[in-house]
Amino acid sequence: AKRLEGKVALITGGASGIGEATAKLFAKYGAKVIIADVQDELGHAIAKEFPSISYVHCDVTNESDVKNAVDGAVSEHGKLDIMFNNAGITVPMQYTSVLDSEKSHFEKVFGVNVFGAFLGAKHAARVMIPAKTGSIIFCSSASALTAVEFPISYASSKYAVIGLTNQLCLELGKHGIRVNCVSPFLIPTPMLGNAMGAAVDASAAAEWVAAASNLKGVVAETDDIAEAAVFLGSDESKYVSGLNMVVDGGYSKV
Ligand code: NAD
Repeated sequence: AKRLEGKVALITGGASGIGEATAKLFAKYGAKVIIADVQDELGHAIAKEFPSISYVHCDVTNESDVKNAVDGAVSEHGKLDIMFNNAGITVPMQYTSVLDSEKSHFEKVFGVNVFGAFLGAKHAARVMIPAKTGSIIFCSSASALTAVEFPISYASSKYAVIGLTNQLCLELGKHGIRVNCVSPFLIPTPMLGNAMGAAVDASAAAEWVAAASNLKGVVAETDDIAEAAVFLGSDESKYVSGLNMVVDGGYSKV
């Protein structure tokens, strides 16, 4: 049987980068997938190409959008098994230092990365608690685990995501729901391109990643994170909860 056969998964930020790769891999492994994003054109194009993927407009900072996306998944497929709170943003690298950072950067970045992830988890929990099962996956970053030269607002938002994982692992575990986290770093995506100021250019990001990586000779890809999410979403990890799975080529260890 396929690894995610019969599963229903909602992926925020699924129209691009890691979320897009995860949506496609989940579908390949037999899941029904709903992409929730603000990039409607990209989302609709993916849904058109893959029969088991659908798209819903959802700004994760807007609670009624998140509620609507979760309720839509349940009304379409009867349940929600996997919630991947993947949507995330950063400010550009020029705002790395504390003196260059503004409160508004924190408000913007925390709005999506922390408050949005919280809303995703809240509404997933609302439908998973009665089902007494489910897998919630957060997306942190290796930049939360070690000091790196990346915007302070972003790195601290991703530290907060680990806090969400820990708290919800305890609370939702009482209802049979597993809560885990995946921590990428240096995966070439449009977000990384934007952070570098390379204007949505993932290939420029790829060059930078290859130079900065601690694991030489291995090319970092969005699928490396998608594979981790497959494991955390599937029953292969049925006794794994509270894990922060770091997929960073060893970056945070040196
Ligand atoms: P990406 O920009 O390719 O994808 C992020 C997606 O999130 C986009 O489709 C975007 O439209 C969507 N999004 C942004 N704001 C949203 C909102 N308010 N509501 C709904 N969707 C929204 O970037 P990515 O690199 O694939 O990022 C995915 C996740 O991985 C993020 O949480 C990011 O912080 C995390 N991450 C990425 C890296 C990396 O190296 N690329 C490293 C660590 C963590």
